[in-house]
Amino acid sequence: MDKSQYKGVYVFVEQREGKIQNVSMELLGKARDLADALNDKVYALLLGHNMVEKGQDLIAGGADVVLYMDDELLAEYTTEPYAQAICQIIDERKPDIIMFGATTIGRDLGPRISARVETGLTADCTKLEISEDGHLLMTRPAFGGNLMATIVCKEHRPQMSTVRPGVMRALPADTARMGVVECVKPEIDRSKVKVKLVKTVKEKKNMVDISEAKILISGGRGVGSCGSFESLCELAKTMKAEVSASRAMVDAGLVPHERQVGQTGKTVRPDLYLALGISGAIQHLAGMEESDFIVAINKDKYAPIFQVADLGIVGDVKKIIPLLNERLKEVVKPE
Ligand code: FAD
Repeated sequence: MDKSQYKGVYVFVEQREGKIQNVSMELLGKARDLADALNDKVYALLLGHNMVEKGQDLIAGGADVVLYMDDELLAEYTTEPYAQAICQIIDERKPDIIMFGATTIGRDLGPRISARVETGLTADCTKLEISEDGHLLMTRPAFGGNLMATIVCKEHRPQMSTVRPGVMRALPADTARMGVVECVKPEIDRSKVKVKLVKTVKEKKNMVDISEAKILISGGRGVGSCGSFESLCELAKTMKAEVSASRAMVDAGLVPHERQVGQTGKTVRPDLYLALGISGAIQHLAGMEESDFIVAINKDKYAPIFQVADLGIVGDVKKIIPLLNERLKEVVKPE
């Protein structure tokens, strides 16, 4: 294989009901770094119907070229038309790198494409870099999160990876950035499309996306075991924060899984992360260590959480949470 003919860092742009998902903007931010290191361009791959104008947002987010494919069959995601359209781009353009969000869509689409074009795919990457010889270094947790493995796809192209939402950072939108929106006609073999989207039914639940929260108050087993979860929730109310948790609290049935932080939960990057009664296992740290400011309260001064904390309090959460709540009620203005 002649690798020199493969060029460009491509991002599959995920859209739902015509709305571009945050994870795609985060990937564009990372793609910009990688393309700059390779002296190459960032391509955003946008598939949809009647949404060409969104191309400008992608340029503002870091893309040099937006490849826009329009078809009624691409309005909402289904596997076959999307897989065909992206394989067409790979055949025609020969990308060096393609990134997908590790979302339900990206996790369905990425492997399908990598199998069709006979290349590798590294799932759930937490770090992406370019090696001295120009390969993509894809790092992800391995062996239950106890090791970080760096994977290189040396013999095949494109180099493909998925990245979970919240792991990379989107660039601030720069509307002065120049770029090109190019329309590419998708050649979809409709005889192979066996699935039709009849209707979309949204699950009714009070879903909060903790990865969007500015302040998170996270409880661990130390909170659950001393019956302080209620006072943690009161503190969250005072601080206008969202509640999240370690897996121990989710396993104990005290908190739903959508609020779990960590390797098998969500990756979060709030302005403020309060870790209360959380030991700081590597699988938990993987989901929160990029938070802007971390405050940890733990009665064990050797707890690993203190290694990533900006501020640490050694003490009993049962005593400290109510005190903190009382004090903060005096300073945080009610809405
Ligand atoms: P513990 O480790 O039991 O820690 C409790 C802490 O509370 C201790 O440090 C203790 O000193 C402190 N404490 C106790 N009482 C008090 C008190 N009264 N006041 C103050 N401090 C007190 N975990 C996650 O969180 N997220 C994940 O996504 C995740 N994914 C995983 C994936 C795999 C494949 C595996 C193997 C594990 C995963 N885990 C995950 C589990 C992880 O390894 C830990 O078991 C878990 O994070 C521990 O949760 P914890 O810190 O709440 O509990």
